[in-house]
Amino acid sequence: MDAIDVIKRRLKEERVPDAPDPDDIGAKKKRPREVAFMDVNLCFPCGKCPEFCPVQCIEYLAPGSVPNRGVQPVQDRFQECIGCYICVEVCALLTDYDAVRMYDTTLVEDVLGVKVGDTKPDAYIPAQPYEEYFSEGGTYRHLGKGSRIREKMTAEERAILNAAR
Ligand code: SF4
Ligand code: SF4
Repeated sequence: MDAIDVIKRRLKEERVPDAPDPDDIGAKKKRPREVAFMDVNLCFPCGKCPEFCPVQCIEYLAPGSVPNRGVQPVQDRFQECIGCYICVEVCALLTDYDAVRMYDTTLVEDVLGVKVGDTKPDAYIPAQPYEEYFSEGGTYRHLGKGSRIREKMTAEERAILNAAR
Protein backbone atom coordinates (compact mmCIF):
# COMPACT_ATOMS: atom_id res chain seq x y z
CA MET A 1 0.00 0.00 0.00
CA ASP A 2 1.41 3.41 -0.86
CA ALA A 3 0.78 6.81 0.71
CA ILE A 4 -2.13 7.85 -1.49
CA ASP A 5 -3.90 4.56 -0.75
CA VAL A 6 -3.50 5.20 2.98
CA ILE A 7 -4.97 8.67 2.56
CA LYS A 8 -7.92 7.44 0.50
CA ARG A 9 -8.69 4.61 2.89
CA ARG A 10 -8.69 6.91 5.91
CA LEU A 11 -10.82 9.51 4.14
CA LYS A 12 -13.32 6.78 3.36
CA GLU A 13 -13.37 5.54 6.94
CA GLU A 14 -13.83 9.03 8.34
CA ARG A 15 -16.59 9.79 5.85
CA VAL A 16 -15.71 13.43 5.57
CA PRO A 17 -19.04 15.24 5.16
CA ASP A 18 -20.51 14.74 1.74
CA ALA A 19 -17.15 14.02 0.15
CA PRO A 20 -17.26 11.38 -2.58
CA ASP A 21 -16.19 7.81 -1.89
CA PRO A 22 -12.43 7.80 -2.59
CA ASP A 23 -12.80 4.41 -4.27
CA ASP A 24 -15.43 5.75 -6.63
CA ILE A 25 -14.02 9.05 -7.81
CA GLY A 26 -14.30 10.05 -11.41
CA ALA A 27 -15.92 12.78 -13.41
CA LYS A 28 -17.81 15.43 -11.47
CA LYS A 29 -21.38 14.25 -10.96
CA LYS A 30 -22.77 16.75 -8.50
CA ARG A 31 -22.12 20.11 -6.92
CA PRO A 32 -19.86 19.48 -3.91
CA ARG A 33 -20.74 20.97 -0.56
CA GLU A 34 -17.16 22.20 -0.16
CA VAL A 35 -14.39 23.11 -2.58
CA ALA A 36 -10.65 23.40 -2.09
CA PHE A 37 -8.43 26.45 -2.32
CA MET A 38 -4.68 26.53 -1.99
CA ASP A 39 -3.24 29.34 0.10
CA VAL A 40 -0.92 30.67 -2.58
CA ASN A 41 1.33 32.22 0.05
CA LEU A 42 1.90 28.86 1.71
CA CYS A 43 2.16 26.66 -1.40
CA PHE A 44 5.84 25.92 -2.12
CA PRO A 45 4.97 24.51 -4.80
CA CYS A 46 6.09 20.91 -4.51
CA GLY A 47 3.84 19.55 -7.27
CA LYS A 48 2.31 16.74 -5.21
CA CYS A 49 -1.34 17.76 -5.10
CA PRO A 50 -1.63 18.25 -8.89
CA GLU A 51 -0.31 14.72 -9.24
CA PHE A 52 -2.94 13.21 -6.95
CA CYS A 53 -6.08 15.28 -7.67
CA PRO A 54 -8.44 12.65 -9.10
CA VAL A 55 -10.00 15.07 -11.60
CA GLN A 56 -6.78 16.93 -12.50
CA CYS A 57 -8.18 20.33 -11.68
CA ILE A 58 -5.07 21.74 -9.97
CA GLU A 59 -2.74 23.81 -12.11
CA TYR A 60 0.27 26.09 -11.78
CA LEU A 61 -0.82 29.71 -11.93
CA ALA A 62 0.13 31.70 -14.98
CA PRO A 63 3.44 33.61 -14.82
CA GLY A 64 3.08 36.84 -12.86
CA SER A 65 -0.17 35.81 -11.13
CA VAL A 66 1.41 36.14 -7.70
CA PRO A 67 3.94 39.00 -7.71
CA ASN A 68 7.52 38.34 -6.66
CA ARG A 69 7.27 34.60 -7.15
CA GLY A 70 9.46 32.91 -9.71
CA VAL A 71 7.81 29.51 -9.92
CA GLN A 72 4.16 30.24 -9.39
CA PRO A 73 2.14 28.36 -6.76
CA VAL A 74 -0.70 26.04 -7.69
CA GLN A 75 -4.42 26.64 -7.42
CA ASP A 76 -7.40 24.52 -8.37
CA ARG A 77 -10.09 25.31 -10.87
CA PHE A 78 -12.77 25.27 -8.20
CA GLN A 79 -15.63 24.84 -10.67
CA GLU A 80 -14.17 21.40 -11.42
CA CYS A 81 -13.35 20.44 -7.82
CA ILE A 82 -15.37 17.48 -6.50
CA GLY A 83 -14.63 18.22 -2.85
CA CYS A 84 -12.70 15.02 -2.17
CA TYR A 85 -10.20 16.41 0.37
CA ILE A 86 -7.30 14.51 -1.18
CA CYS A 87 -5.26 17.67 -1.83
CA VAL A 88 -5.80 18.80 1.77
CA GLU A 89 -4.39 15.55 3.09
CA VAL A 90 -1.60 15.28 0.55
CA CYS A 91 -0.33 18.76 1.40
CA ALA A 92 -0.74 18.26 5.14
CA LEU A 93 0.74 14.77 5.35
CA LEU A 94 3.21 14.48 2.49
CA THR A 95 4.72 17.98 2.58
CA ASP A 96 5.79 20.60 5.12
CA TYR A 97 3.35 23.22 3.83
CA ASP A 98 -0.23 22.40 4.89
CA ALA A 99 -1.43 24.94 2.36
CA VAL A 100 -4.89 23.67 1.37
CA ARG A 101 -8.25 24.34 2.98
CA MET A 102 -11.86 23.61 2.10
CA TYR A 103 -14.48 26.34 1.82
CA ASP A 104 -18.24 26.19 1.80
CA THR A 105 -19.39 26.15 -1.81
CA THR A 106 -22.25 28.56 -1.24
CA LEU A 107 -19.85 31.03 0.35
CA VAL A 108 -17.52 30.72 -2.62
CA GLU A 109 -20.41 31.31 -5.02
CA ASP A 110 -21.46 34.42 -3.13
CA VAL A 111 -17.93 35.81 -2.89
CA LEU A 112 -17.01 35.22 -6.52
CA GLY A 113 -20.45 35.80 -8.04
CA VAL A 114 -20.57 32.45 -9.80
CA LYS A 115 -22.60 29.27 -9.66
CA VAL A 116 -20.92 25.92 -9.13
CA GLY A 117 -22.71 23.33 -11.19
CA ASP A 118 -23.25 19.57 -11.02
CA THR A 119 -20.74 18.91 -13.79
CA LYS A 120 -17.44 20.24 -15.02
CA PRO A 121 -17.88 23.50 -16.99
CA ASP A 122 -17.83 23.10 -20.75
CA ALA A 123 -15.13 25.71 -21.16
CA TYR A 124 -11.73 25.82 -19.46
CA ILE A 125 -11.73 28.46 -16.74
CA PRO A 126 -8.17 29.12 -15.55
CA ALA A 127 -7.36 29.09 -11.84
CA GLN A 128 -6.77 32.40 -10.09
CA PRO A 129 -4.80 33.11 -6.88
CA TYR A 130 -7.81 34.36 -4.81
CA GLU A 131 -5.25 35.35 -2.22
CA GLU A 132 -7.39 38.19 -0.89
CA TYR A 133 -10.25 35.82 -0.09
CA PHE A 134 -8.95 32.32 0.51
CA SER A 135 -5.64 32.43 2.36
CA GLU A 136 -4.47 32.90 5.91
CA GLY A 137 -5.22 36.56 6.51
CA GLY A 138 -7.74 36.53 3.68
CA THR A 139 -11.32 37.66 4.14
CA TYR A 140 -13.09 34.33 4.54
CA ARG A 141 -12.88 31.47 6.97
CA HIS A 142 -12.15 27.99 5.78
CA LEU A 143 -13.74 24.82 7.07
CA GLY A 144 -11.64 22.75 9.38
CA LYS A 145 -7.96 22.87 10.12
CA GLY A 146 -6.22 20.95 7.43
CA SER A 147 -5.85 17.20 7.86
CA ARG A 148 -8.84 15.35 9.25
CA ILE A 149 -7.06 12.03 9.41
CA ARG A 150 -3.61 12.78 10.85
CA GLU A 151 -4.55 11.77 14.37
CA LYS A 152 -6.09 8.49 13.24
CA MET A 153 -2.97 7.11 11.65
CA THR A 154 -1.38 3.92 12.91
CA ALA A 155 2.39 3.69 13.30
CA GLU A 156 2.53 1.60 10.14
CA GLU A 157 0.56 4.18 8.17
CA ARG A 158 2.72 7.00 9.49
CA ALA A 159 5.80 5.15 8.34
CA ILE A 160 4.36 4.82 4.85
CA LEU A 161 3.47 8.52 4.74
CA ASN A 162 6.85 9.60 6.10
CA ALA A 163 8.62 7.52 3.49
CA ALA A 164 6.67 9.35 0.77
CA ARG A 165 7.49 12.86 1.99
S1 SF4 B 1 0.89 19.78 -2.08
FE1 SF4 B 1 0.82 21.80 -1.06
S2 SF4 B 1 2.86 22.74 -1.39
FE2 SF4 B 1 2.64 21.01 -2.84
S3 SF4 B 1 1.85 21.96 -4.73
FE3 SF4 B 1 0.06 21.28 -3.54
S4 SF4 B 1 -0.58 23.07 -2.30
FE4 SF4 B 1 1.52 23.44 -3.06
S1 SF4 C 1 -10.60 18.53 -3.21
FE1 SF4 C 1 -8.55 18.85 -4.09
S2 SF4 C 1 -7.93 16.87 -4.91
FE2 SF4 C 1 -10.18 16.81 -4.62
S3 SF4 C 1 -11.03 17.48 -6.58
FE3 SF4 C 1 -10.83 19.31 -5.31
S4 SF4 C 1 -8.86 20.18 -5.89
FE4 SF4 C 1 -8.86 18.05 -6.60
